[in-house]
Amino acid sequence: MRCPYCHHPDSRVIDSRDVDTGIRRRRECVECKSRFTTYERIEAQALYVIKKDGRREEFDRTKLLSGLRIACAKRPLPIGTVERLVNDVESDLRRLGRTEVASTMVGEMVMERLKVLDHIAYVRFASVYREFTDLETLRREVETLASGRERPSAPNQLPLLPPEPLALGRRRRRPAGQP
Ligand SMILES: [Zn+2]
Repeated sequence: MRCPYCHHPDSRVIDSRDVDTGIRRRRECVECKSRFTTYERIEAQALYVIKKDGRREEFDRTKLLSGLRIACAKRPLPIGTVERLVNDVESDLRRLGRTEVASTMVGEMVMERLKVLDHIAYVRFASVYREFTDLETLRREVETLASGRERPSAPNQLPLLPPEPLALGRRRRRPAGQP
């Protein structure tokens, strides 16, 4: 493994451990003694996603990650939640042992998990993914969530209503300690 600092071709492995997606190795350059990390990933069989319009594209976890990061932005979720969710969905998909899956199935698997994690993130993701074209569909979905039929398991889940901007506005107008 070529050293990224001095480009010497040899390095020695000083630590090696299994991680979710493969093996992580700490290496030390035999020349300049710089340390760096390499990851060895298991090359899985290609998995294709069939889009609604019939197009086929390779499953792209980076794309799924970025969509979920947008949906989960500023939500009170523990660090690593999004990565874990994507890992779970990907391993469930691979466990199916198929080479092709419908994009709707991937979306449903993500939404199923998001729904119990965080309602706001779920509605954000679903509104992009399901393309809620009319407000009525979105309103029904939000009502279902608010009625508690889909109760989140996360103990720190914030109530869906009132929406955050209102809550923030109220705090700003009447700061703590003032009559
Ligand atoms: Zn080096």
